Amino acid sequence: MASKGYSVRNLQFVLYELLDVISLTEEGYFSNHSRENFDIMLDVAEDIAEKYLRPFLKEGDRNPPQVVSGRVKVHPSLHKYYNAFSSAGLLASTFDEKLGGSQVPKTVYSATDFIVGNAHNGYEMFTSLSVGAARLIVSFGSDELISTYATRILSGKWTATMCLTEPQAGSALSAITTSATHQPGGSYKVKGQKVFISAGDHDITENIVHLVLARIKGYPEGTKGISLFAVPVKRLKNENELLHNDVTSVSVYHKMGQRSTPAMQLEFGGQDDCVGYLVGEPGKGLTYMFQMMNTARLGIGLAGSYIASSAYYTSLNYATERYQGRNKRSPQDAMGQTQIINHPDVRRMLLLQKAITEGCLALVMQCYYYEDLLKVCTASERVKYSDLLELLTPVAKTYGAEMGMVSVSNGLQVLGGYGYTEDFALEQLLRDVRIMSIYEGTTGIQSQALLGRQIPANNNRSFDLWIEEVSKVIKRASESEELSPYGTWLTAEISELQRTTQHLLDIHTKGLDEIFLSDANLFMELFGIVCVAWQWLNQGVVANRSIKEAISPADRIFYLSKLETMRFFFHYELRKTKGLHERLRDNTVLTVRTDEEILV
Ligand SMILES: Cc1cc2nc3c(=O)[nH]c(=O)nc-3n(C[C@H](O)[C@H](O)[C@H](O)COP(=O)(O)OP(=O)(O)OC[C@H]3O[C@@H](n4cnc5c(N)ncnc54)[C@H](O)[C@@H]3O)c2cc1C
Repeated sequence: MASKGYSVRNLQFVLYELLDVISLTEEGYFSNHSRENFDIMLDVAEDIAEKYLRPFLKEGDRNPPQVVSGRVKVHPSLHKYYNAFSSAGLLASTFDEKLGGSQVPKTVYSATDFIVGNAHNGYEMFTSLSVGAARLIVSFGSDELISTYATRILSGKWTATMCLTEPQAGSALSAITTSATHQPGGSYKVKGQKVFISAGDHDITENIVHLVLARIKGYPEGTKGISLFAVPVKRLKNENELLHNDVTSVSVYHKMGQRSTPAMQLEFGGQDDCVGYLVGEPGKGLTYMFQMMNTARLGIGLAGSYIASSAYYTSLNYATERYQGRNKRSPQDAMGQTQIINHPDVRRMLLLQKAITEGCLALVMQCYYYEDLLKVCTASERVKYSDLLELLTPVAKTYGAEMGMVSVSNGLQVLGGYGYTEDFALEQLLRDVRIMSIYEGTTGIQSQALLGRQIPANNNRSFDLWIEEVSKVIKRASESEELSPYGTWLTAEISELQRTTQHLLDIHTKGLDEIFLSDANLFMELFGIVCVAWQWLNQGVVANRSIKEAISPADRIFYLSKLETMRFFFHYELRKTKGLHERLRDNTVLTVRTDEEILV
């Protein structure tokens, strides 16, 4: 049986020491909760992971979904997982009590999601898509849509998906052509093709609710003409009878990774008999969908971290068992060889893995914490937390996606040739993590959103608010002799980041927008590193305070490990910003297309 690929101690550190989620329960929305039931939730998630997920990671990959008699059949263990997750009340846990939920903070729910996804990142997608879709219906749908669809999804009776992508409309969703025609009685006939729809067909539940972006006949081209529809695979004739709703599974994609999750090509209304129900107001579909996309983006940041965590613990374990080469200062085996964990280069790879995994987790959890604060904060604080959340969501998504790959790839390298074989999970994890930078907006698109929209918005208001947040951590660091040099270092990094950002914004002011955004990807890389340095300094501040009071040897080592990994992040990763600043301030831009195509 595969062993746990995460540290429960680290999850507790993030929840209770770094973010102090208990303070959320003092009054208001989360006040029914306590540390005791948060810990129980983590135990429940681990129980599900142990029984229904970890043992099936490889099996799900080697036995991908099949189309049998026009319907996709998934691995039987996925049925058991879905049932266990919803029966435990986890699907609905973050929703209002009146919807059958228990008003759990998203920060805590995400820790349970981390445990589940760490054990099986493919199966986790089914539950996270259902949760995101139900939230979208609850936020924008009518009471009827909520009682018909959201409650059934949250109880685990039906699952749900997001249907955005079409063959000609990938990154550019404004190009969608799926149409919706108004019917007497208020419903719509939906017609069109959607591609790559995750969890788009399966045999787990009797019904699937697709949230479909479509253009109502007569509405304008572009994003303003797009509306959102709930389109069930089977529509309700009455309370108990379901009718086929003309949604056809055209094919299932053969993917590189996450092979246990079917990605479907779907046809809506091939027989002109597909009924959809408008969610919210017409023409606002893409705006509504941003809620689900942003939820999914944070989920991807989390996934980058939980897959990287799984790889880290596999590599760490291997590095203590494998003896190769010599190192005079370390214990040796009978042949005089040492464990590979004693070689500096292997230690560098392991430290990099740990720094990415735990740094990324802290950043994503910080975002979830802002989301929770939005539920309990004063009216005057709302703008601040929602600005911070909007600014950091593309960064958390992209850092998790891009650096998740780097982390898993280094993990594979620790195993040498064995890492490249199917005997270990690393090759699968590397295939699985590869999708993260592609779906929910590619890295290129996220980077343009960060530099082009989030940074300049409201006269750089979010950026300034973020600098205030970082400055608070720097101030706390300055109170300790050990950490104040790192606080000073981060202060200097922030100044450099401001200079580079201003340089780019000046190009924007001159109206040279193609040049302004041409290296947005590198700006994202830079901003991501500085954000994670902020999170590492914050972890360092907490660890430095706690190590002095640590009673158990295990706690002392835990905090020491945090402090050393923080130092590693600064001395090895934060150093990389120098080259990025130089490139971003270099006026020689070679990527903007000129008249003659030179890419031959
Ligand atoms: C396994 C899998 C699961 C998926 N699940 C879902 C799902 O559940 N629901 C759903 O709706 N979709 C889903 N998708 C679709 C996914 O969101 C898209 O693949 C993604 O948005 C990119 O679109 P595309 O593939 O058409 O690439 P394209 O848009 O063609 O992009 C190709 C390349 O061009 C770049 N590019 C494109 N436009 C620009 C631009 N303006 N500026 C700079 N660079 C640009 C991109 O960054 C990318 O590198 C899934 C995809 C996969 C592979």
